[in-house]
Amino acid sequence: MKVVDLLPLIKYKKQNGEMGNMFTVAVCDNTTACIAKVYDAEKITSMIVDEVLIMENFYIRDGELAITVRSKVFRTGETITVPDDVMENAKSLLGQKGNADSPSKIIEAATSPKKTVVSVKGVVYKHLPSDTVDIPSDEDDSSDEDKTPTGVIIGIADLKRYRCCVNDRCYKRKLKDDRCSSCGVFYKNQSSGEAFIAQLLLKCTESATIKTYTVFTQQLEQLTTATNVSLKSKSLETDIAKKFPITVKYQSLNEKLTKIAVQK
Ligand SMILES: [Zn+2]
Repeated sequence: MKVVDLLPLIKYKKQNGEMGNMFTVAVCDNTTACIAKVYDAEKITSMIVDEVLIMENFYIRDGELAITVRSKVFRTGETITVPDDVMENAKSLLGQKGNADSPSKIIEAATSPKKTVVSVKGVVYKHLPSDTVDIPSDEDDSSDEDKTPTGVIIGIADLKRYRCCVNDRCYKRKLKDDRCSSCGVFYKNQSSGEAFIAQLLLKCTESATIKTYTVFTQQLEQLTTATNVSLKSKSLETDIAKKFPITVKYQSLNEKLTKIAVQK
């Protein structure tokens, strides 16, 4: 799904009466365009015009895509060619701030049972029916620690950088108010460590299934070292996305990647 254009953040009233920030974005694939309402202000940094995204766990509401804090927006480094008329249509939809009556083939594709899981340039990866917020639990929870399957990393989301404890026994615990809650050490700015967490979208080569995995500092170090990306980069998520697809051998446990080895 390609980001065509977006409107600035606006305030809206939540169901519980509190105020929140949301923004509206026009997206398209290579045949059609639609409007997405994003009820999570943090995601504005992932919605970069002309980038191709894969979205997971979103809703269809009033003929538009509704993206919440529970949704994942993966950046892919993919490119798709969009015909001029589709681009113009997307921009005009945004001008109307989303016309609920606009027919959208993207939404039809998303609501068709056969196409609820589509990868990469199919763009719509997974969605939930609008009456539930549970993440589908049809994935195999059993440990596959023994196997080292091959897969392809195709998306990244929610990359976060945080200060951590450098004590080995604390496993890079996140500092709270400059203090490690595990060992109690108080850190000044320059002496703390730096740790990372992110979500990766990985397509298993053998089964062709696509899953979301959490990765931590060690795996991101391996990924960036093997692809010549600097962990210190201020645009780290973008830099990594540009390297996709990245083929890896991997081990996983409970939706986390425990080991990855980048394949040349
Ligand atoms: Zn500690």
